[in-house]
Amino acid sequence: MKEKPWEKMPMIENGVVIDHVPTDRGPLVYLIVLPYITNGITANIRTNIPSQKLGDGKEYGKKWVFKIEDDIIDTTLENKIALTGEKEITINRIVNYEVVEKYHPELPEELSSILQCTNPNCVTSHDYHAGQRQRFKLVSEEPVVYECEYCGNQLYQEDIDKLLQKDI
Ligand SMILES: [Zn+2]
Repeated sequence: MKEKPWEKMPMIENGVVIDHVPTDRGPLVYLIVLPYITNGITANIRTNIPSQKLGDGKEYGKKWVFKIEDDIIDTTLENKIALTGEKEITINRIVNYEVVEKYHPELPEELSSILQCTNPNCVTSHDYHAGQRQRFKLVSEEPVVYECEYCGNQLYQEDIDKLLQKDI
């Protein structure tokens, strides 16, 4: 069988592989991961490669894959990836070329970071309440909806996508 270009993607010794990112969501995940890889870390990012499941050899659309040669994963990054609403995204932790952990990040039930209320009249939006912590509750997973605990304003995927592109 002819070697396909994506099979040449180098193995990593230690680090993280973020896999099964749907191709239309690749740019968003790139923006999320970017702050983590600007500090001299080696990363290999492949765009628009055929996505296959083991076994049947069929293709399932296109995907992006991020191979990062450092254990960059923290709770904020997991939460941001989950907030994309793409449940098939997989995080693989690699140690000595072996996958030691593989999981789909889960949407947090409650969040007091990353999201910001979009209601200009919300108490958390006022300057004099700058120290006021934002608090959001997950009210729906599909579609993803979070609700501001202070004013009840709901954030939908479109709002969340915009907030994910800011480094907050
Ligand atoms: Zn609010």
